Amino acid sequence: MLTDQFQRTISYLRLSVTDRCDFRCVYCMADDMTFLPRKEVLSLEELGEVGAAFVELGGKKIRLTGGEPLIRRDFINLAKSLGELAGLEQLAITTNGSQLSSCADALAAAGVTSLNISLDSLDPAKFKAITRTGDLSDVLAGIEAAQAAGIKNIRLNSVILHTYNLEDAAELIDFAIEKRIDIAFIEEMPLGTMPDIDRKERWLSNETLVQELRLRYDLHDSNATKSNSGPARYQNVAGTDTRIGFISPHSHNFCSTCNRIRVTVEGRLLLCLGNEHSLDLRAILRDRGYTREKLKQAIVDALAFKPERHHFHDPEHPQILRFMNATGG
Ligand code: SAM
Ligand code: SF4
Repeated sequence: MLTDQFQRTISYLRLSVTDRCDFRCVYCMADDMTFLPRKEVLSLEELGEVGAAFVELGGKKIRLTGGEPLIRRDFINLAKSLGELAGLEQLAITTNGSQLSSCADALAAAGVTSLNISLDSLDPAKFKAITRTGDLSDVLAGIEAAQAAGIKNIRLNSVILHTYNLEDAAELIDFAIEKRIDIAFIEEMPLGTMPDIDRKERWLSNETLVQELRLRYDLHDSNATKSNSGPARYQNVAGTDTRIGFISPHSHNFCSTCNRIRVTVEGRLLLCLGNEHSLDLRAILRDRGYTREKLKQAIVDALAFKPERHHFHDPEHPQILRFMNATGG
């Protein structure tokens, strides 16, 4: 078992497989983005090594993310190799859903156990305004395909912004209820600088959102909050199978139960989403004397530097310059 200096057990790896994406969501990317040159990006084999080392260290869950993971060429091969690792209990993907309709069956066959699918509006024009390039109908078809493929654990992820989609939250919940899946609302995090955009002006707290939702839905605390060491606090919608998760990094500090680490697609091991501490795993992976044992030892040693907590919105703390797509959301 991997543990850090604050006695937290680390069992969950979020592994970014690309920084590229077919969408340009307004909270995630600036208008014109520069992506990493290919040689700086871990190969699928290197990503597989990181996953295998983590599971040998006692890791139980891996989430593949990005950028948009499903646009990475031969992504299915990586999913298959991770799906075969003895000891891995959950293989999850966070996706924008745009490619799901063509690959949901292959993902299910590869052993993918859960999907988080991002969806911020059911209005095609608003969806386009938020994603800048996305097409809502592709995502809706992707959700259907994932359910038809038998992937049981599906959750929608929605970022709600005051100035874009506050009035869409209820429609998204009704959609989740109809599909009998969960939905989580994520507060926008200040990752990456966007020169012409004032994130504070459009930022909406989950506290405000939940007050609005209570006017319309009968919400009750869910046991899922206790059994899940993740950052979401769940509410059941009475009379339905749907739970609503609230991920509120600003108002709810979930760091004391943090069980996760991240690896970016250039192989930076990030010990915390809201801090810059990191270790260059790519240098280890590309060293001529590479062995998996060396990689595992480096991961164990790095955990000594996992910070106690994040510092979003702490004026004393430097702003995080990496964008969410480069971090692995
Ligand atoms: N492309 C995939 C997707 O959109 O699901 C996976 C990567 S994306 C970076 C992962 C999640 O991070 C998405 O649910 C997205 O809504 C969320 N996200 C992106 N930028 C964010 C930000 N600045 N604050 C909060 N959530 C963000
Ligand atoms: Fe792409 Fe996901 Fe970022 Fe949107 S949130 S731009 S879909 S990586």
